Amino acid sequence: MDTVALTRSIKEKALEIGFDLVGISPVGPFPESLFFKEWLSEGFNGEMKYMERNSDRREDVRRVFPEARSVISCGLNYNTEYPYSINKVDKQRGWISRYAWGDDYHEVIKDRLSKLLGFIREVSPVEVKALIYVDTGPVLERVYGRYGGIGWIGKNTCLINQKIGSWIFIGEIITNLELNYDSPVPDRCGTCKRCIDACPTGALVKPYVLDSRLCISYLTIELKGKIPVELREKVGNNVFGCDICQDVCPWNRRAKSSRETSFLPRESLFNPELSSLSELTEEDFKKVFRKSPVKRAKRRGFIRNVLVAMGNSGNKRFIPHVKRLLKDADPLVRAHAVWALWKLEGKDALETIKGLLAKEHDPMVREEILNVMNQCL
Ligand code: SF4
Repeated sequence: MDTVALTRSIKEKALEIGFDLVGISPVGPFPESLFFKEWLSEGFNGEMKYMERNSDRREDVRRVFPEARSVISCGLNYNTEYPYSINKVDKQRGWISRYAWGDDYHEVIKDRLSKLLGFIREVSPVEVKALIYVDTGPVLERVYGRYGGIGWIGKNTCLINQKIGSWIFIGEIITNLELNYDSPVPDRCGTCKRCIDACPTGALVKPYVLDSRLCISYLTIELKGKIPVELREKVGNNVFGCDICQDVCPWNRRAKSSRETSFLPRESLFNPELSSLSELTEEDFKKVFRKSPVKRAKRRGFIRNVLVAMGNSGNKRFIPHVKRLLKDADPLVRAHAVWALWKLEGKDALETIKGLLAKEHDPMVREEILNVMNQCL
């Protein structure tokens, strides 16, 4: 089998296995890879220090895999029929990012890429060396996606495909095989800047540049400690991730739904009821979010986010739930419960909060109590 035939059969197989998109690029280096170092030097990665550890290897995958010649990027649409967060959804309820409604995509994609690699090994005339990556390892997945012809990197920093929009999970097979490369996709954002204007925290500091430290996805998933007070109101009702910069994107207006049933929302994860989320114990959390991307936030981070959403709701119905969480075993939860109570009760919260100070020994919670007391005075 020659290179043209091998390339064609790999692409056909990828689609047969169930991927919606497939494209092949060289391994780089690409000009975008240099941007990554600049981005890190600005501190835009926040607490995601693991990105710094691998920065050289991210720049050029041949530092990890010297024989690498081609990257086969595969994309899977995860959109569903359900409305967008900017449409008619109940703001008194929470919002979990679209990508996290169903099963963890890492496993779904990895399984398919393993199948594809098995096929490549069967048909290749030469020995195949390969690595599979899904959101892991030192690769710049979106850059490969762009050079493999899957989509362009939009001003919202997401990979956008002209036909199916940006609700795409991607994964790659990096291989020693010489294959035919696709052409990079031109940027089709044009003069649009809807995502930049719509971001509540101004995290898209300029087109194509995201300051993670301001991004609601980072604040509700990656950040392990307190959500900065000045950003809490802007987090709105987002309890895990945020979809706003993709919801407003015109390329997602006619996005088709995925054929993949494992991405359909698990019961109660679409626009979920905040009070029931606030009642999740450690055990419940593990059970409800087993094999779900949401488990990454851990119960403490997730309940922290639920408290911020409750505080932002202005709905006094949540007060008993917030008061119960003032006694939670986790200081991160207690600290955010203090803030949420103040948001819901205003100065009426002062007596309850003052009463906590005498018994509270954790410095983080004490700091929160004192801040709120200052606001009340
Ligand atoms: Fe590009 Fe507009 Fe979509 Fe932002 S909203 S990614 S600027 S097309």
